[in-house]
Amino acid sequence: MNLCSLRSSSRGNSAVAFTDKTKILVDCGISGKTALCCLADINIAPEELDAIVVTHEHIDHIRGVGVLCRKFNIPVYASEGTWYAMESEIGVIPRECIRVFSDVYFNIGDIEVHPFDIPHDAAEPCGYAFFSSGGSAAVATDMGCIDDGVLDALHGCETVLLEANHDANMLAMGNYPQHLKNRIKSRRGHLANDDAGKAAAELVKRGTKHILLGHLSRENNYPPLAYNTVKNILESEDIHLGRDVILDVAKKDDVSYCRDCAVV
Ligand SMILES: [Zn+2]
Ligand SMILES: [Zn+2]
Repeated sequence: MNLCSLRSSSRGNSAVAFTDKTKILVDCGISGKTALCCLADINIAPEELDAIVVTHEHIDHIRGVGVLCRKFNIPVYASEGTWYAMESEIGVIPRECIRVFSDVYFNIGDIEVHPFDIPHDAAEPCGYAFFSSGGSAAVATDMGCIDDGVLDALHGCETVLLEANHDANMLAMGNYPQHLKNRIKSRRGHLANDDAGKAAAELVKRGTKHILLGHLSRENNYPPLAYNTVKNILESEDIHLGRDVILDVAKKDDVSYCRDCAVV
């Protein structure tokens, strides 16, 4: 089971979960063209994609969904609420490509997909955990907090792409208008670095071996700050990098992605 972040920031997000047989794009918040470049970099042809699963309707997650779906006839999976909220944004897509899930899990090829609720200010947002005979991985971003439901959904996932959106002090001192600051730091907004650190410690105690920090704010965070904040919290819990867990930061907008690949 592999999880590779193609792009990850508050500007645009996309990742791919894949086995030898099955390839699932998680969100496409970048242009279709950029997504194709990113996929080519990891030797995945768009024709190989079995599905696009969408977490929620915010533009940094759906920008290229319609284009890719129409061009390559790729089924798009989303919760009912997300479908309603994003339909007008992604344009007309073939009827047979619309997949609204309501079950607790479903199968795409040899991957079992478990959507789970996330606390975020969207219509019906979710994260996804992926299980195959070769391991497990999950995408858990766009969360104002980590609740028990999220922790349960991620229990034992070997690789987790975890949100570390902002540094609380940078957000407080920054130029954003107050209403936006309030939205970001609310329980349905985005996860701060120190909350990501606490979540990371819980995940490691529950079996996670590789944490990839993502969805970093361009204005209110720096990769080394996110990394070190999470590292310090892990070490304060006697969790050591290398020995107990591998910690990485997903690249934001660079053109090289290989170091983002988290292979289980
Ligand atoms: Zn969002
Ligand atoms: Zn987002």
